[in-house]
Amino acid sequence: MTSLVVQTSFLGDMVLTTPLLARLARRGPVDVVATPQSAPLLTGHPAVRDVIVYDKRGGARGWRGLLRAARAIRSRAGGEPRGVTVAYLAQGSLRSATLVAVAGVGERVGFASSAGRRLYTRAVPFDRTQHHAERLWRLASTDDDAPDAPLHPRLYPSSNDHAAAASLLATSGVAPGAPILVVAPGSVWATKRWPHYRSLAIALATDPRTAKARLVVLGSAADTGIARTIAEGMQSIGAALPIDATGRLPLLASAALLARAGAIVTNDSLPLHLASAMGTPTVALFGPTTPDMGFGPLAPHADALGVQGLACRPCHAHGPQACPLGHWRCMEELSVARVIDAVADVMRVTR
Ligand code: SF4
Repeated sequence: MTSLVVQTSFLGDMVLTTPLLARLARRGPVDVVATPQSAPLLTGHPAVRDVIVYDKRGGARGWRGLLRAARAIRSRAGGEPRGVTVAYLAQGSLRSATLVAVAGVGERVGFASSAGRRLYTRAVPFDRTQHHAERLWRLASTDDDAPDAPLHPRLYPSSNDHAAAASLLATSGVAPGAPILVVAPGSVWATKRWPHYRSLAIALATDPRTAKARLVVLGSAADTGIARTIAEGMQSIGAALPIDATGRLPLLASAALLARAGAIVTNDSLPLHLASAMGTPTVALFGPTTPDMGFGPLAPHADALGVQGLACRPCHAHGPQACPLGHWRCMEELSVARVIDAVADVMRVTR
């Protein structure tokens, strides 16, 4: 059986799709339709035969782009038929469902709650109580089976990715094997960005439980400003400056860096899922979203923190750009002391 998985959602969703990919790979070849942004996450993934890049908002926008992608689903490079027998719609839009229907895939499986459900041949319940990795994994179930062990996403950085991460650390004076701690202060959604990373960095540098570890700030180029703010805070107390990795590492090199880290503190954002894939002890900070929405950490040693007792939480599927109530208590009131205690706890378990 040849499977096709359509996953054109956010980068974190692609990471959470990897347990489904591994499950399907036990049945036969697996091809994946991905965005140009998320396709690199699957480089070297042993469960994946081919990645079909579908730039649905760029060069492949509109009907012509969809038809081109449908042709790519029908045939591999060189004209060999792919022979896809089942398509799994991990992303539930009508466009994705149309894509695989136009490509002639006879069996189309997706969530019963998805916009494209009318084009599915089998609809699977979307259980809001499950982790999203498990929801995706269950797309491949024909009965009510459950995973027999906790699901862990997996990514496979190459030796070049590991070398890029090691080189960044070495050029910043970190010896091989020396402890590092990672903070990932960014998020596309403003209300998900915990506002106390500068204070946390100072606390990490002065707390005897964490002070030996060199701090690394991980994120995209958009996070360079907060990395600078963190560095200014550490400079003000004479601590070693953090290593600014924002915008400097490709996705899988970022994953390689996390494989090397003693722990990460992250918002509800991509680095949380990269850490889950690499088994990095994780402290995840949730504000306008909550872990029970299905996107909590899956690393073996992890803690998810949030302000309890706020009637307004969660207030949004992703996190609004501004707090609709104006006070942003879900993040403002999440204290540095709680976070640093959680870091010390998850670190203690493994490293
Ligand atoms: S409404 Fe509540 S949960 Fe939403 S951003 Fe504001 S404080 Fe946070």
